[in-house]
Amino acid sequence: LSERLSGVFDRLTKQGALSEDDVKTALREVRVALLEADVSLPVARDFVKAVQEKATGQAVTKSITPGQQVVKIVHDELVHVLTGEDDPGKLKIDNAPAPILMVGLQGSGKTTTTGKLAKRLKEREGKRVLMASLDVNRPAAMEQLAILGTQIGVDTLPIVKGEDPVQIAKRARTQAGLGGYDVYMLDTAGRLHIDAELIAQAAAVRDAVNPRETLLVVDGLTGQVAVEVAEEFDDKIGVTGVVLTRMDGDGRGGAALSMRAVTGKPIRFVGLGEKMDAIETFEPERIAGRILGMGDIVSLVEKAQETIEAEQAERMMRRFQKGQFNMNDLRMQLEQMQKMGGMEGMMGMMPGMGKMAKQVQEAGFDDRIIVQQIALIQSMTKKERANPKLLQASRKKRIARGAGQEVSELNKLLKMHRQMGDMMKKMGKMGKGGMLKQAMK
Ligand code: GDP
Ligand code: MG
Repeated sequence: LSERLSGVFDRLTKQGALSEDDVKTALREVRVALLEADVSLPVARDFVKAVQEKATGQAVTKSITPGQQVVKIVHDELVHVLTGEDDPGKLKIDNAPAPILMVGLQGSGKTTTTGKLAKRLKEREGKRVLMASLDVNRPAAMEQLAILGTQIGVDTLPIVKGEDPVQIAKRARTQAGLGGYDVYMLDTAGRLHIDAELIAQAAAVRDAVNPRETLLVVDGLTGQVAVEVAEEFDDKIGVTGVVLTRMDGDGRGGAALSMRAVTGKPIRFVGLGEKMDAIETFEPERIAGRILGMGDIVSLVEKAQETIEAEQAERMMRRFQKGQFNMNDLRMQLEQMQKMGGMEGMMGMMPGMGKMAKQVQEAGFDDRIIVQQIALIQSMTKKERANPKLLQASRKKRIARGAGQEVSELNKLLKMHRQMGDMMKKMGKMGKGGMLKQAMK
């Protein structure tokens, strides 16, 4: 998918300006990307329309290529739609004891998320948390929460047989008040499908304790179903936020976009696994990147900023644009790669480079080789580094010997240097602010 997208954008970059046809072609692909990412059809349609209006209305910025511009507009619009609250991870828990109600279908991850959030509140904010299970139909569910509590060092309300959910909720409130707890979390029962009884029960609990937060837990892999569930729960119970679980799986996160677009409710957290630490505050940029399958450009940029000085990058960029790329540059690139988690790590983060990363892997190019290649470059003279064309057979032998390697290894390095030089030239041509420079910003 990401290849298809970057293919379209590559084609776009070859032309000078952003015509309406260009935009249309690109957006058709974006629409497919959205649908494949499980975004619902009407939401995808609206989204593409919004982007089209923005893209066509916009003059082509001279510092970036048309392709990059479309990518940026799409990305920004995704982030715009996905963004709900400034600080989604901040739960409203003033006025102790603050009730947090957890709702959702059975198996969506309510109990697990209750534990994860309790642990977070305890560890990050130093809160005293009490958890209570209202799942009266399944004694095992109550046990499950008690076990989690022991595991993470958070108290659970003692189980009393024969109570209904509202009675348990009230007992939790009393206990939380008496025990000096800051927060009490109510883990409700779920069913496999929404039904009247489930909703009535949750509503009764809501009315009994008046929760500060009502968090809807939905399985991020269920796509359209998740959206319907969210609509229904919000309608009948009123939710203050959504937790998307199972975002560690292969799902592309389209449910997040649909849910935001349809319900308007903020996504607050994402669940990333079964362990009690596997939860993160929702970050629109990340999900936007994931939906588009464009690679995690943001993190590439951040890493690049950490490791390269902007000035150095500028200088290098100017050289690349002029088609200059000598052994010193290559060495700098290799060292850069080492810092950025090796070849594979870096390529995986760049759009369209996924395929190359695979080739690199298949060619057995691991990070040890980077060390060897740097050694080869070190064994060249200053002149040779500046002008690798000087390297004839006798010089090659000397260099290889100096680095304790075979001439064939040196030849591989030279070939890579040529290929990278070609790539740099292409990137340089992608406009004044080619991909690298764009990434440095
Ligand atoms: P509940 O019925 O809504 O209370 O759901 P549970 O909390 O019992 O979770 C159901 C299953 O999903 C359990 O096996 C959890 O370990 C698992 N689970 C919950 N959240 C996540 C998540 O974010 N990622 C993954 N991979 N599994 C999860
Ligand atoms: Mg449960």
